[in-house]
Amino acid sequence: MLDRALLARYLRQRAELGERELFLEGCSAEELLAALASSPPPTEWESGTAGEREKPATSSAAARASMLREVLGPLPAGIVGGAARPEVAAPPAGAISLSPALPLSHSAESAQPSPKPSPLQVLGEQARSCTACRLSEGRRSVVFGEGDPAARLVVVGEAPGQEEDRTGRPFVGQAGKLLDLLLMSVGLPRESVYICNTLKCRPPQNRNPLPDELAACSGFLQGQLSAIAPSVLLAVGKFPAQSLVGSEESISRLRGRLFRYRGIPLVVTYHPAFLLRSPQWITTAWEDFQLARKVLDEQA
Ligand code: SF4
Repeated sequence: MLDRALLARYLRQRAELGERELFLEGCSAEELLAALASSPPPTEWESGTAGEREKPATSSAAARASMLREVLGPLPAGIVGGAARPEVAAPPAGAISLSPALPLSHSAESAQPSPKPSPLQVLGEQARSCTACRLSEGRRSVVFGEGDPAARLVVVGEAPGQEEDRTGRPFVGQAGKLLDLLLMSVGLPRESVYICNTLKCRPPQNRNPLPDELAACSGFLQGQLSAIAPSVLLAVGKFPAQSLVGSEESISRLRGRLFRYRGIPLVVTYHPAFLLRSPQWITTAWEDFQLARKVLDEQA
């Protein structure tokens, strides 16, 4: 026995969702047509809003069936009854059995709207299309940053190099490996922190950042820090150190001390690329990483 109201409602729902083909089990095409021709008028819920309800409705069941036929296409091609899908168990008596391929409503996955992007993701999208300074002209990638969006430590470097520009990731290559080792040495695996640069695009021939480029890009770093809200910042290299501390002193004078950037404790140290060229400073840099770790523990 067909539940005609349910069937009519189901077909309207599928048509509204753009379905042009469906499979029903335990229901032949003839039974379906008969059910459509005699289905009751749509309920308030089926017919939409009150305003819509006042429009001239399709009055007769036959007309509704005709309309559905038109929307759904030729029945023999689109509606298959009986034993079309033998792997599915027969429906209980008195019920319409619908194929698992066409449930009454969309699956949870398709029905749910895609999750709202986080502020960090929105900022990343904005950076990827940014042309606010001349560095947009020669870049291959915008190297926005990566890592734990809820990291307690954010590492801020200078600018992408050739490998970073190629891959779109910060601190890859040999300098990145050294950074990973130094982070690991104080118990902070790379994936537990967030890593980014003051500039998101590579300066040509790895030249130093220019003041107007740093100014143009500073909003992205500030936005990242606002979104992540870390407990400690670690600036690696002269330009991030000087711009975050707000000083023109050399790294050798700034390192080993604790500063604050917008209220966040800030430690500065040498850039890993410099340490690769001057490995005698690695131990000194390691002390800075230990200081960052100590401040992090104290913050906890
Ligand atoms: S460096 Fe920064 S400001 Fe300049 S184009 Fe890239 S994202 Fe924009």
